[in-house]
Formats: sequence, C-alpha cells, structure tokens
Amino acid sequence: MATSNSGRVEGKVALVTGAASGIGEGTALLLAREGAAVAVVDIDVEAGKRTTATIVREGGKAIFIRADVGKTAQVKRMIERTASAFGRLDIIHNNAIWFRNGKATELDEKDWDRTLDVGLKTVFLSAKYGVPVMRETGGGAIVNTASVHSLVSFEEHTAYDAAKAGLLGLTRVLALDFGPDIRVNSVLPGAVLTPLWKGISKADRRRFADMVPAKRLGTPEDIASAVLFLASEEASFITGTSLVVDGGLIARSM
Ligand code: NAD
Repeated sequence: MATSNSGRVEGKVALVTGAASGIGEGTALLLAREGAAVAVVDIDVEAGKRTTATIVREGGKAIFIRADVGKTAQVKRMIERTASAFGRLDIIHNNAIWFRNGKATELDEKDWDRTLDVGLKTVFLSAKYGVPVMRETGGGAIVNTASVHSLVSFEEHTAYDAAKAGLLGLTRVLALDFGPDIRVNSVLPGAVLTPLWKGISKADRRRFADMVPAKRLGTPEDIASAVLFLASEEASFITGTSLVVDGGLIARSM
C-alpha cells in the first residue's frame, strides 16, 4: 500500500472492528498512516495482534482489543478501553461481519440472529455507548461497512442482505439524531478480494472481475480510502448517506 502520510486524521482516535483482516485491516493501517491512533478490534487475537504490530512497527499508535461485536457487554467494553487508552474517541468504523446463508426455509434462526447481531445491532450498540464518549471531546464520525447487498441481492443471502439493507436506514437515523457534531455514513463495497473470498476459485474470481466495469476485483485499500475520506474533515458536509465503491458493478442492470 502506498504511504501518503498527509495527516488527514492527525491527532484523532479511531476504533475499527474486524481489523484483523481484509477491509478492516486496510482501514486500520491507512487511518494510522494518516495520523490516527487506532484500536484494532476483532475476535481473531493472533491476526488482530499482527495488524496492531504492523502499525506500531511503522511508527503509529495502536492497541488490540479482543471483542465480539455481537455481544453488548463487549461492545461497551471496547469503547471504554479505547477511550481509556487514548483519552478520546473520534472515529468508529463498524466493519466486522459474520454470516450464514440459506433460504428462509433453511436458515437456522440462531444464524439469522447472529448475522443480525454482528452485522447490524452492533452499529446501534456502538452508537449507544460510543456517541457520549465521542461527544466528550467534540464529536466525530461513524462509518459503517454496508455492501452493494444493501441495494441489490443474491439468492440465499437472507440474513446478510437484511443486515446490510438495515444499515442504510440506521445510518440515516443516527445522522439525524446525533448531528451536527457526529456524522454517520456508510460505504458499500462491491466485490473486494479479502479472506471472505477464500472459497472462490481463480476462474470464478476472473469471471466475476470481468463483470465489473473496472475489470478487476476491489482491494481493501480501495475501501479504506473511502472510509478515510468519510471519516476526515474533507467530508464535513456529508452525513446520513452512503458511498458505493464497487468499480461500477451495480451500474449494470442485468
Ligand atoms: P474478512 O473476513 O476479511 O474480515 C472480517 C473480520 O471480522 C475478520 O477479521 C473476523 O475475525 C472479524 N469478525 C468476525 N466476527 C466478529 C465478531 N463477532 N466480533 C469481532 N470481529 C469479528 O472480511 P472483509 O471482506 O474484510 O469484510 C469486511 C466488511 O466488508 C464486512 O462488513 C463485509 O460484509 C463487507 N463487505 C465485504 C465485501 C467483499 O467482497 N469482501 C463486499 C461487500 C461488503
């Protein structure tokens, strides 16, 4: 990844969930390179500590917090630990995901609940506990990782698509309720090559990339750049909305 180091979030404190891997890792690294101290949050301790170590090795500030963002007490604790380590909280990137697919007739109710807890309820909880802390030092920005699945669906993504579509409504209402000092936006990634794609063959990846006007799959850095923009002062007049970052994938009708 290119290091720009232009200090776009200098002096800020950011909390990134799902930061052990993929898009969250990319965002944590970019926010740190742009001057933020970062709380790297994940359930994967080993990989989370790796992201943290990379930031520290590059001269940035980071701590690892093990938290299951689908659990209320752990969301509350990740906010408290970030604020106590760095003295403030300015940016929350709600990004972690867990999901199971299946038609409604086949999907286990507990898998529906877990997908909605990790993918949607967590954003409510992080606002509930995070907004008062952000306001102690003047407010900040929340960026949620939604998906092109917020707007269009794939078969059998019953719980995932419900969670991702729900994020758009939640993003809007949080922006209304907590502006002007807290801005809330979503990014909607298209097909981004992360460990989430590990089961997909090279041929299928190529086929998928060919469907995208940009003729490639996205990278975590593509999404991290959009998150950085929405979290930074450059986006100070942007709230309650969403930014599709998909190489043109859903510009096509069929
Ligand atoms: P990833 O699998 O690389 O990373 C997800 C991270 O979330 C992992 O580190 C995992 O350990 C962590 N995680 C899972 N459950 C957790 C929990 N309960 N608490 C805390 N951490 C937990 O996936 P990714 O592709 O980087 O996805 C990141 C986000 O981007 C997700 O919200 C996903 O829905 C969204 N997204 C991804 C794509 C894509 O093509 N990769 C497309 C659209 C949207």
